[in-house]
Amino acid sequence: MDHASQRAVLLRSAAELFCRSYRVHQYLEKVAPAVGTEYAPLAKTLAEALTEARSNIDTLSHRSGLPEGEFNRQLLDLLGRYASAFANIHETLIYLPSAGVRPEAIGLLKATFGKHYQAVDPSIILGSAFNAFHFDFSKTLGRVLPDLKKIRLPDQKNTVLQNPICDWQSPIGWAVLAHEMGHAIDRIYELSRQVARELSIDGASPQYDWLREFCADILASEMIGPAAILAIVSIEYTLYPLRRIHKPSERTDKRPSHPTTLWRLRVVAEHLAAKYSIDYLGDTLDRYEDAWNASLERFETPENQDIMRHVDSLQYAICAKRFSEAIRKRLTSELTNPHLIAEASVERCLQRLRRGDPIGAQGRPREELQKLITEYREKYEGSSRQGPEKIQAFEKLVAEFREAPLGLQTLLFCCALRRDELIREAVDRSSSADFPIRFENLNESLTVLDSRAVSSLTGNLTQRTL
Ligand SMILES: [Zn+2]
Repeated sequence: MDHASQRAVLLRSAAELFCRSYRVHQYLEKVAPAVGTEYAPLAKTLAEALTEARSNIDTLSHRSGLPEGEFNRQLLDLLGRYASAFANIHETLIYLPSAGVRPEAIGLLKATFGKHYQAVDPSIILGSAFNAFHFDFSKTLGRVLPDLKKIRLPDQKNTVLQNPICDWQSPIGWAVLAHEMGHAIDRIYELSRQVARELSIDGASPQYDWLREFCADILASEMIGPAAILAIVSIEYTLYPLRRIHKPSERTDKRPSHPTTLWRLRVVAEHLAAKYSIDYLGDTLDRYEDAWNASLERFETPENQDIMRHVDSLQYAICAKRFSEAIRKRLTSELTNPHLIAEASVERCLQRLRRGDPIGAQGRPREELQKLITEYREKYEGSSRQGPEKIQAFEKLVAEFREAPLGLQTLLFCCALRRDELIREAVDRSSSADFPIRFENLNESLTVLDSRAVSSLTGNLTQRTL
């Protein structure tokens, strides 16, 4: 990979890290205001630690004349330290009072998952680990209190979905919960178990873990659209300097093996391209492939790289592609959601978001409405046609201006697209010297976007319930 492509990957990761850190600063201000709370000293310490963790990156940007390769090497090293500090600081947010999950996040999942939400009946919490999880609370409690079984039926479950604290007011981040809901639905419908039986996959193998992840990803993309996998990619970039993203993760006692995010992105992209008849994730995939290649080149010797590329494409064909095709064949109407994300609608939403307008609802395109007004004027203004006919025509014209709530999948996807656009612009325009300043401005733009996303979602959910 050339130095410029490597730098673009690192700056993308830096932008996500700067953004998540900025959100932690905002969270601290919200839950522990500087004046009048006993938590203020803790919040101050955490804020200072975050600022200090970033300061070395600011210093690097002031060092002029570094050769490109050396700049990339130093930036990667500093980003690694920053990402590690960020993850640790995020863990300690548990000591502060929780802002709680916003009701819109719950409304979003209820509206997109419908009867599945009722069946799973999840508790949604903010967690201090920087990741999204789902777990069965009653099982967790049962491990430390075996006597609990005497008073609870064995099939009683408490599904908990956990969103990272720093994403507490970012609907684009909430979309990651759809994947966790996907796991819960898979457990009810036993989708991965059936596919495993069909393909003779051993339940104790890492391949079975991968199959379960693909099931959750496909179900999430069915219910909530491309935003679910984009939220996962965003989390991946944030901790990119710490991870070997070119290999599936190892299986441990506590954690199943995870397929590479690149495979997951490809599986979802293929699924959604077939569903929408348009490939919305191609660009994200291209850029993420750069991150995958940079990881390969960073951790593997040159002679191993070709072998690993070969192994990766074989594994993708034998496992990921075969598994996802088997999953898709078993998607009954109960497990699919007939929403459509239309290209024209996406473009109009993006234009509105670029202007800073919310996108909760959408009516007919402006040009069509202008045409209808012209037609009305030509027919009725100054003409002898008056009375009931004119009133009726006017009422019909007014009705054309009504806006209907936008599909939530389109709403979330457009906000995620706009976020990606803002980050890409900032990364592409940044030089080695000015990226920290550009990312400061980016943080503000992303915060405004988050608040537009929240207000769009609030309006949308309100209109749906009226
Ligand atoms: Zn998962």
